[in-house]
Amino acid sequence: MPFDPPADAEARRAVAPVICYPPDTLPAPDLARYATVRNNARKIGEILAPPREAACFEVPAGHFFRISSVEGPQVGDLNLWNAANIDERFYSGKTRALHGTHVSTGQRLWSSFPYLRPMATIVADTLDWYGKDSFGGSVHDVIGTRCDPYTGNLLAGGQYHHCCHSNLVRALADHRGLTLDEAEPHVHDVLNVFMCTGFTRDTGQYFMKASPVRPGDYLELFAEIDLLGGLSACPGGDCSAEHSSDTAVCHPLLVEIFEPLDGDLAGWNSPGINDYDRSHGR
Ligand SMILES: [Zn+2]
Repeated sequence: MPFDPPADAEARRAVAPVICYPPDTLPAPDLARYATVRNNARKIGEILAPPREAACFEVPAGHFFRISSVEGPQVGDLNLWNAANIDERFYSGKTRALHGTHVSTGQRLWSSFPYLRPMATIVADTLDWYGKDSFGGSVHDVIGTRCDPYTGNLLAGGQYHHCCHSNLVRALADHRGLTLDEAEPHVHDVLNVFMCTGFTRDTGQYFMKASPVRPGDYLELFAEIDLLGGLSACPGGDCSAEHSSDTAVCHPLLVEIFEPLDGDLAGWNSPGINDYDRSHGR
């Protein structure tokens, strides 16, 4: 039984919300400059994340990387680490607090404490036309965590090994010569690339629906620091029905790396770690 509302319940509900982190004081990326640098950049490599597998890739600071849909609609789960210190990693929750539930061009992927700096800036998104649909859904979310075998086991039983979590664990272990036990704690909440998600308006439940992505669509990012990336081609495929199984039709995802022209980034500096002094009041 819910408690009885107080006499002024409607007045309390009617209080207008305040944006927790107004973005106007966030250091803004120079998107025009990034666009110029990107125009002159040349492709220096690519990797393919096979269906229901993950792949790791390195992107030096000042380079760009593009994640593309190839062959068919497919969702990707992205992890990012500082290539020189994998304790610094993408912080999905703070990125969500700063930018909202879904990210697109001009927004940044922020790193964990005590570093809290931009790791990458989104410079192009061919799905930016999608906006928010009538269900409240949108693409490229920082609200999901990643599909994982623990939740799968909790809800349905069984041992499924090709969830994004396990795919990323294996890929990181192989790329860095770590054991699975060493690699697993470094795998973290993801950017759900191309995934279409939201919260139901009535119950606030996390939902997914078929991704609007089609072959040729891409999300492109500028590496603000030296990055190690991990990308899993989710076993959910386009995430229209289910994940954490071999049921869905799955496709690979392509990652391409682009190097800036010599001199194009003159005067640009990779952002330093956060200036908080870490004394915590002591
Ligand atoms: Zn997944």
